[in-house]
Amino acid sequence: MHTRLAIEHDFPLKSLNTFGIDAKARRYLRVAGPADLAAVMADPALSALPRLLLGGGSNVLLTRDFDGLVLHMAGAGKDIVGDTGTHVLVRGAAGENWHGFVQYTLAQGLGGLENMSLIPGTLGAAPIQNIGAYGAEIKDVFHSLTAFDMASGALRTMTAAECRFGYRDSVFKHAEGQGLAIIDVTFALPRNWQPNLRYAELAQALLDAGIEQPTAQQVSDTVVAIRRRKLPDPAVIGNAGSFFKNPVVSGAECARLLERFPALVHHAQPDGSEKLAAGWLIDQCGWKGKHLGAAGVYPKQALVLVNNGGASGADVLALARAIQADVHERYGVMLDPEPVFV
Ligand SMILES: Cc1cc2nc3c(=O)[nH]c(=O)nc-3n(C[C@H](O)[C@H](O)[C@H](O)COP(=O)(O)OP(=O)(O)OC[C@H]3O[C@@H](n4cnc5c(N)ncnc54)[C@H](O)[C@@H]3O)c2cc1C
Repeated sequence: MHTRLAIEHDFPLKSLNTFGIDAKARRYLRVAGPADLAAVMADPALSALPRLLLGGGSNVLLTRDFDGLVLHMAGAGKDIVGDTGTHVLVRGAAGENWHGFVQYTLAQGLGGLENMSLIPGTLGAAPIQNIGAYGAEIKDVFHSLTAFDMASGALRTMTAAECRFGYRDSVFKHAEGQGLAIIDVTFALPRNWQPNLRYAELAQALLDAGIEQPTAQQVSDTVVAIRRRKLPDPAVIGNAGSFFKNPVVSGAECARLLERFPALVHHAQPDGSEKLAAGWLIDQCGWKGKHLGAAGVYPKQALVLVNNGGASGADVLALARAIQADVHERYGVMLDPEPVFV
């Protein structure tokens, strides 16, 4: 069976992860669709290997060579697939570039994804951590997805409720969602689009440009400009975006912290809990712009860890652990990493 599959051996992953970590995969397959996954599972020599589903590699930290089979989700294609009267349904295959998909929807005159412009990675990985930026998350406009169940070989359609989206979270990050490979994702984009300008920096940037009633494309262009200014381009300096999630603490815990640290940055959540700014906590511990070997903290944004050149996954991990320990010692808060460690 696997003579039909173009399995590669000792495959270099450096260009397939945005940290630019120089790790290898024992076996590698570029997956065009569910038939390739079915063929993998039908071959005992392949199905027995540990598996890693990989999209754009913009949310993984490769801590060592991967002694198994990397399934690089590369299915292509996007289309308008339905219309409910109030919403247009747009579907794309897992391997589509996320930002390219956002631009495609905008070119169709459809808004809804523009606040999440320029997030790196693939469409198929977007549901994994319910990607979000500038006051929007994909769960706001998500319709459904198709997943291939590696255990049963069946294709499943999953609704938003079944995906159990949360802040940088979904069922795919938990035991019940393991072994599900996302094949395509469908969004329901509103015909009656209104800009989402809840995020103050975005609203201000549009006003500064003299735009009071922005189009979705103008919102997208503004988000792109802000992101280019603030975040390192992985093509130039290796990184995986925000390395830690913003920790959520109880209202009581936040009040206790505020007594000791009156400048603590916190945002009240609808359920009474408080979201703390992980970047601020790291900055206060003196890590911004610092480095440990070839791994460093981006000077303009303490939440972003970078590969200053030649860092191994273990170097980045050591830096992350040191930051976690300092923040925990000072604030009693444990930072939770956002990328998946492999
Ligand atoms: C500069 C920069 C900025 C970023 N900004 C943001 C941001 O603003 N908001 C945000 O939410 N994220 C952000 N990220 C993180 C990242 O872009 C997203 O998490 C993105 O969705 C990852 O996509 P990917 O294709 O690169 O996934 P990968 O890194 O390849 O994989 C991530 C996880 O998804 C799994 N996976 C991948 N594809 C599939 C599939 N088809 N089926 C099942 N599982 C799959 C992998 O096994 C892994 O566990 C940023 C990253 C960078 C480098």
